[in-house]
Amino acid sequence: MGMFDNFFRNSKKSSTYKPVFLRALLDIADLHDPKKSERMAGEDWLCRVGDRLRLDLNFIAIRYAKYYWDMEESFHLRQTQDSHGARIIRIIKEQMKTWGKRAPPGILQLESGGMEAFRKKVINQAIKPEVLYHLRTDMPDLYVRLGGNIIELDYGLVEFLHEHKTIIRQGLNGVIAKYLEKLNRMTPQIANKIDAERISRKPLNPRFKEQMHKSQKSRCFYCECRLVRTHVDHVIPFNYVFSTDPYNCILACPRCNCLKYDRLPLRSTYEEVLDRNQEMKFVGRGIRKFDRRSYRQLFNACRQEYNGNKRPFIPERCV
Ligand SMILES: [Zn+2]
Repeated sequence: MGMFDNFFRNSKKSSTYKPVFLRALLDIADLHDPKKSERMAGEDWLCRVGDRLRLDLNFIAIRYAKYYWDMEESFHLRQTQDSHGARIIRIIKEQMKTWGKRAPPGILQLESGGMEAFRKKVINQAIKPEVLYHLRTDMPDLYVRLGGNIIELDYGLVEFLHEHKTIIRQGLNGVIAKYLEKLNRMTPQIANKIDAERISRKPLNPRFKEQMHKSQKSRCFYCECRLVRTHVDHVIPFNYVFSTDPYNCILACPRCNCLKYDRLPLRSTYEEVLDRNQEMKFVGRGIRKFDRRSYRQLFNACRQEYNGNKRPFIPERCV
């Protein structure tokens, strides 16, 4: 299967579309799993015909949309050089209006009948014009188009992908990360964000929590009310820094923590965090030490690349 080799070596990447499409396609590998007992999302859109696999693009669309929806909702990463932004993101933003403030849809929700019109848009306005045509140049033998939403692949590919799934997935993630790093120059942890489903938030080390209680005199960092229930707040939003390092954590009351959500605080409040960091000694292995200058840079980078035009969080002082 030299075509994957060719894709990794020679393909021109001017967006994340192609590697994201291939990552979605990679799931056909699970068809070959003899231990597979659960139904795979979108399985009905796959059908074996002799030595060919017939695939309805809806199978790709639900995975493709899920990647971009999750990335947009959580990380606001730029996905294309195009100054108008990615078309797939515009389609998703449109859909978000009817979806409301709920968490992004899971793959099974995307598969459901209610999302049919959305999937159709994803296929006709994003996947067909932006991926299928261009992928043809990189991997001419990957599929044959049969018209409508149907493409046909060599069934041998299922077995091949099953055998090499992990390494191909890592390769594709690497391609996506490399491209996103070019476009989102200052954003931390891009590679981990792409594989985010596997990563959960680590809680703050209890030792640091105790230290913070002392330094804050058990009061909320923002509104200064006495802490009864305590939340750990990521001063620069977690989804931007994507780590729970103590330099970026303070203790807050649940109300401030929830109201702040994924916003930045005022710059003046932020300066107080810098002072706090200088006073506190975060000792321990693996603790990143930020000097004032680099931590200020991180704040500015977050404002430019992540925050958009959201207002900064201003706490209401408690009475
Ligand atoms: Zn508070």
